[in-house]
Amino acid sequence: MTTTQPATLAPDGASVLRAAGLRVTDSRVQVMIALAAIPHAGADAVYARVRESLPNTSRQAVYNVLGDLTRAGIVRRIEPAGQPGLFELRVGDNHHHVICTNCGVVADVDCAVGHAPCLTPSTEGGFVIAEAEVTYWGLCGDCRSGSTAQVSTNLISTKEK
Ligand SMILES: [Zn+2]
Ligand SMILES: [Zn+2]
Repeated sequence: MTTTQPATLAPDGASVLRAAGLRVTDSRVQVMIALAAIPHAGADAVYARVRESLPNTSRQAVYNVLGDLTRAGIVRRIEPAGQPGLFELRVGDNHHHVICTNCGVVADVDCAVGHAPCLTPSTEGGFVIAEAEVTYWGLCGDCRSGSTAQVSTNLISTKEK
């Protein structure tokens, strides 16, 4: 895995925090850098990444930062069925997700219509609909082209994690 250059995002992260009225802290900036490198990361993956640059960070501190950033609208939390909450920096564009039923990889899918809500329910039941969260499930390219042998390799490498 290649390491992305965080230097370009660091000042950016700080200004995003200021614009949202949040205090700029190392852990907040590092969480944003981690999410820029690994979109759709679970909290534990973010924690592991942040600890590389801030070794004294606690798991709870990272969880708190993720909560703060999510409430501030800087980070979006998605909860696909059967997976822990996943976090990403791509917010406010009404994009959707496609998730592999075999390996669990998550990819972004642009909104089919281009604005929210892109699905109109047959009856709105008195609600004013703001958005539709769509999760597509299927087999990713790797899993689809994989033979039985490759699939079992995937399972082994998952266990090793
Ligand atoms: Zn897959
Ligand atoms: Zn996404």
